[in-house]
Amino acid sequence: MKVSICWFRRDLRLKDNTALHMALANDSAVLPLFIFDSDILKELPADDARLSFIHAEISSMDVELTKKGSSFLTKHGSPLEIWEEILKEYDVEAVYMNKDYEPYALKRDKEVAAFLSKKGIQFHPCKDQVIFEENEVLKNDGKPYTIYTPFKNKWLSQFDQNEHLPLKDSNFENLYQTNIDLLNLENLGFTKSSIIVKPFTLEEVAEYEIMRNFPAKDGTSYLSPHLRFGTVSVRQIIQKLKSNDAVFLSELIWREFFMQILFHFPRVVSESFRPKYDTIKWRNNTQDFNRWCEGETGYPMVDAGMRQLNQTGYMHNRVRMVVASFLCKHLLIDWRWGEAYFAKKLLDYDLSANNGNWQWAAGTGCDAAPYFRIFNPIEQLKKFDKDLIYTRKWVRNLNEFSYPQPMVDHKGARERALSTYKEGINSYTG
Ligand SMILES: Cc1cc2nc3c(=O)[nH]c(=O)nc-3n(C[C@H](O)[C@H](O)[C@H](O)COP(=O)(O)OP(=O)(O)OC[C@H]3O[C@@H](n4cnc5c(N)ncnc54)[C@H](O)[C@@H]3O)c2cc1C
Repeated sequence: MKVSICWFRRDLRLKDNTALHMALANDSAVLPLFIFDSDILKELPADDARLSFIHAEISSMDVELTKKGSSFLTKHGSPLEIWEEILKEYDVEAVYMNKDYEPYALKRDKEVAAFLSKKGIQFHPCKDQVIFEENEVLKNDGKPYTIYTPFKNKWLSQFDQNEHLPLKDSNFENLYQTNIDLLNLENLGFTKSSIIVKPFTLEEVAEYEIMRNFPAKDGTSYLSPHLRFGTVSVRQIIQKLKSNDAVFLSELIWREFFMQILFHFPRVVSESFRPKYDTIKWRNNTQDFNRWCEGETGYPMVDAGMRQLNQTGYMHNRVRMVVASFLCKHLLIDWRWGEAYFAKKLLDYDLSANNGNWQWAAGTGCDAAPYFRIFNPIEQLKKFDKDLIYTRKWVRNLNEFSYPQPMVDHKGARERALSTYKEGINSYTG
């Protein structure tokens, strides 16, 4: 029997899923597939919280599929080898998948598409995780935007809610009838993490503009891991927004802005967007870096953020900006070190957003904070957590002897950062 395969990756939902919807609209029966990519898994700790989340989401989708007489096919290995294996097991007519714009995914999908096309199998990449993808929001001269505000204005001028509505219910009668056991975490060499992904909420969004900067207020949506792994579609979220949710929408546009930056300028993965900033002589002191990672800098807001990250896989956006600035400016540690640490820990880790925001904080990015804008971690605390509600929650020993003295003096560190940045930029000859 001929089957179509819907290859799930960062789109872990059965509702309003473009690739699945398209596959089910077709004639041949549809088998959902997830490949636990051994190249990605080998970089992760045994109790990685993202993997636990992915596995839990696949398991609950599998329960739904079982009710409809079908099930997920899960495989573990290198994607190309898995596809060779699948073609031996099934008579595959077509493969549907939602596009992923990260460099690794683009390369992987190109290789798989070439392999399938050699075998005469149709490959259907679909747009799903964004409203506008790579080349849909461009300047009038056809070049990509590198500044956020004009990108946002163009995005908004092109956006018509009626064209981006969630998809109608899919025809699940067309699922492939089968009963396959899921791979469990142990089969993959992993254990369940104690860290869990919070459900998202749009309740607070009404007051988002006022509340979003106060980490004690719980005033943001917690959407990020859900958008990252596609447990909800961006269309569903935007449909639920009200006309006064412009600030919230603009954050979703930041997400797409950084995605298209990564797509058009993949060199940002290892280089500063603005090359003159790759001349900065970072101090890169490992002991300082470890104190930052552990939340032992002696600056309460920085330490609260890092401890929140280590314990929960999440950190409030305001605090992310403060800790990132502190690492690059106060400690003069390369933004790439901080970016890599966040990549290990964040539940919502997304290459484009993480890279874009780190480069923003370091002042090296496309539309970055100017390098001489150095957050004062004490003033930030006074302004955004003056009653220490957030800070005390994560820094339990704040007033105890065990809490360290500030590891650097703010004024001295600020001056050192300014002169080091200036020296680097002035030495640029490119
Ligand atoms: C140094 C640093 C690193 C970051 N790394 C990541 C990352 O790896 N993954 C990630 O999703 N976000 C990242 N962010 C952006 C932001 O901090 C998170 O998206 C946000 O805190 C997630 O919480 P929320 O869903 O409650 O956000 P909300 O404030 O409710 O925002 C709603 C959604 O808008 C998007 N969004 C909001 N702010 C940004 C932003 N600055 N850039 C891009 N998208 C945004 C996210 O999808 C978010 O879920 C980073 C920010 C900084 C300063």
